[in-house]
Amino acid sequence: MKILVSKCLLGYNCRYKGDNCLNAKVIDLVKQGHQVVAVCPEQDGGLPTPRDPGEIVGDKVLTKEGKDITAEYRKGAEHALELARKEGVDMAVLKSKSPSCGCGKIYDGTFSGTLKDGNGVTAQLLLDNGVKVVTEELL
Ligand code: SF4
Repeated sequence: MKILVSKCLLGYNCRYKGDNCLNAKVIDLVKQGHQVVAVCPEQDGGLPTPRDPGEIVGDKVLTKEGKDITAEYRKGAEHALELARKEGVDMAVLKSKSPSCGCGKIYDGTFSGTLKDGNGVTAQLLLDNGVKVVTEELL
């Protein structure tokens, strides 16, 4: 299979804090011979690392200080969809809870660590376009 994967799960230091979320089950997918297409929608959308974390608030993505970073999130999501189509991926394994990559549960926009039902911007765009999305928690 060819799988679109959140870069931080592969060990790239692309998280907002400049660290990663290396995940043994995701690495196992690589070891099993699956082809991986790595994306970090927040970096691909032009945001720096490290960066202020964002959360989805209504139809926007804002930092805790209220800076609107929706455009960067959308640009990163569109890049991920473009790659998914170009590479013909079979599915995506994305980082849980992220406002970009989360699928099923995301932070609720209060910057308090509280989760709500919902999908990150990239996960939603992929789902809307027929790409199967799971998080690393479901592997
Ligand atoms: Fe990981 Fe996705 Fe956040 Fe990039 S945007 S750091 S790939 S969760």
